[in-house]
Amino acid sequence: MSDIDEKVAPRREERLGAGCVYGGNACGLKAQFGGCRLKANQRGFGQGSICQLLPGTAMLSTLPNSVVILHGSLGCGGAINLQTANVRYRQILSGERNPQGAIWMTSNLDERDVVSGGEEKLEKAILAAEQRFRPATIIVVATCVPGIIGDDIDGVAARLQPQIQARILPIHCEGFKTQIMATAYDAIFHSISRHLLPRGEGEGQAPVIVDELEIARERIRRSRLVNLMNFASMSASEQGELTRLLQALGLTVQVFPCYSDPERFVDATQAALSISSCPTHDDYFLKHLQERYGVPYILRHMPIGIAATGDWLRDIARFFHLEKEAEALIAQETRELEEALAPFRAAFAGKKALVSAGEVRAFATAAFLQELGLSIVAVRPYHYDEFGEPSLDRLTEKQDDVIVNVATIQPYETLNIFEKTRPDLYMGHIADNVWAAKAGVPVVPIWHGGFSSAGYSGAFDLARRINRVLRNPSFNRRLRENLKQPYRKEWFHEDPFKYIREAVTN
Ligand code: SF4
Repeated sequence: MSDIDEKVAPRREERLGAGCVYGGNACGLKAQFGGCRLKANQRGFGQGSICQLLPGTAMLSTLPNSVVILHGSLGCGGAINLQTANVRYRQILSGERNPQGAIWMTSNLDERDVVSGGEEKLEKAILAAEQRFRPATIIVVATCVPGIIGDDIDGVAARLQPQIQARILPIHCEGFKTQIMATAYDAIFHSISRHLLPRGEGEGQAPVIVDELEIARERIRRSRLVNLMNFASMSASEQGELTRLLQALGLTVQVFPCYSDPERFVDATQAALSISSCPTHDDYFLKHLQERYGVPYILRHMPIGIAATGDWLRDIARFFHLEKEAEALIAQETRELEEALAPFRAAFAGKKALVSAGEVRAFATAAFLQELGLSIVAVRPYHYDEFGEPSLDRLTEKQDDVIVNVATIQPYETLNIFEKTRPDLYMGHIADNVWAAKAGVPVVPIWHGGFSSAGYSGAFDLARRINRVLRNPSFNRRLRENLKQPYRKEWFHEDPFKYIREAVTN
């Protein structure tokens, strides 16, 4: 019996031994993790975190022809407006003339529903979504309240499905259940696998082709057909760059899951290979595609930076016996990129950087900054598990003294590290960047829908943005001079990891 046969996906804390509490150096982190599980550390004081609903709604908002119903209190939808704006922006960048963004609703549970149950409201919301929007899928996302009061969202979906044209996808995304927000990806892929992929013999298979020539053509097409896995924060230009590189190897590319029509997900079961561009995002789904449909996968590197992009291509080429073609492609792309980077290198030499993001992106970006000539003072991944290891290894090949602070936000630790290390550059997501800016550290957002950092063209785009910011750091310097820091001076004399301790186990 596999995890997919269960109603709810397991938490990453149990499935992968993932943890989000660590402060020390990179070698200490490797020793603590030991290839299987981060120690059950705890914070005696915590400040800020991210609910799994944030990455969950980011991913779900990208699914076209869908309505997302947040089953819970109205406030849980706070972050989804940002996601719909991101989706609309991406649609505009992709040349969409009438960008719609994402459609979302809430069942708007209140105090009375906490006592009497929220299933009735959910039923009404599903029926309203069907009547008003006629979508291909209606996605029901359970938040904390239904998780606590015991609403049966799977039962409601099963009850209503016969009278609803849209496919209903129940997703268990209750924020209180996990500290590892990436668990949301598993919850979504769990529901996609259970409700959008064929589960019985022959169901959803491609139609039988009778013509022999057609059969041969189809076999060849499928032998080079790959699933390129994207994610909500992969920009259109990044997706274009990775597709370009795969096509240069002669592969036929179909992209899942973001911005991909849910009715096409079944095509993922027909590919010769699935290719991850972020192991943290994809492992649950790709393992399922292999187990149930025999589609092998490659899941190791995030193609950010020169060496990582080369290794990402080499892994794929090895599967198709295209090693020679891949080496020629890598050599040509690297040569052109190095020429383009040459004018920036003097400005980067000796500069210090601090990087924060999801584990793979954070370590991969830090390793790329090393390739550019910067040194890394610290990396702050939101969590850590086995998927962080390959890029952490790449980073520590050049520096084994890098501070690693595994934390989902926790700004008091961030600001303390700023004061101790005084970096020249900070790269992080929106929630962190503001702290760096106020502390006087020049910021380059590690992600934005209009930017690119993947592949060779992404490497150049990233380097150009860093160069622009490093050339004139006066805005952040003045910001620091004119702002009052939110913490007392005494805190900056303390160990930034003062409140982290190992959990006591009996
Ligand atoms: S933690 Fe719970 S209540 Fe808060 S936003 Fe997340 S799902 Fe909603």
